[in-house]
Amino acid sequence: MSAPYLLFTRRCEFCGKTVDGAVRVCGECKESVIPISGDHCNCCGLPKKRCRCGKGHHFYDDVTAPYIYVGGAKALIRRYKFSPDPDCAKTIAHGIARGFSACYSPADVDMIMSVPQTANELSSRGFDQAELLGRICSVILDVPYHGLLKKLYDTDSQRNVAGSERAGNVFGVFDILAGHSKHVEGKNVLLVDDVKTTGATVDECSKMLKLYNCNKVIVSVFAVDEPEGRKENNNG
Ligand SMILES: [Zn+2]
Ligand SMILES: [Zn+2]
Repeated sequence: MSAPYLLFTRRCEFCGKTVDGAVRVCGECKESVIPISGDHCNCCGLPKKRCRCGKGHHFYDDVTAPYIYVGGAKALIRRYKFSPDPDCAKTIAHGIARGFSACYSPADVDMIMSVPQTANELSSRGFDQAELLGRICSVILDVPYHGLLKKLYDTDSQRNVAGSERAGNVFGVFDILAGHSKHVEGKNVLLVDDVKTTGATVDECSKMLKLYNCNKVIVSVFAVDEPEGRKENNNG
């Protein structure tokens, strides 16, 4: 294979495998992604007909996502977790912005924030994946990015904590940067993250924002997880 040919190698924008021709997504990912369209549940973010969350109390006002956290969408998030690949970041951020824009206009929010990390977590990961997504969304939607949330303590990764214990794992770990609480008062915030599983993390962030009299928090992620038991049924 000659070098010039390599220049035209295309990769699936979800899983990163080489694809032939002009397609952007490989056959496997095309088959496996489940886009979210139509009415969705404002608690779990799933299409209403797939929701079985029971709408427990939550502090955010809505959650939007273009995909369910399975197949190609899951593969892309996993790739991004371990490497700050700018192409991954762009694909994810454009998806987040598309999910948001299906329900809202940029004028509906005053600022974009992201789920923060501690300095320790940042140095072990090497980059702030949610902030990068928030900043790209800021350019796409032309809404200012304000990193006003901070994380006070290191926590176990939510992936290593049982679903029922995730709210406890992040309880009280977020706050607004000192001197900035006035800047969220009465404001509508778009809170960006890559994926929402139980929602404990984004809800804890939303709780702090509401404590400082933020008016509305719309959570926008690339994919929302579906509770066990529905994952094999891709027909609904
Ligand atoms: Zn693929
Ligand atoms: Zn629901």
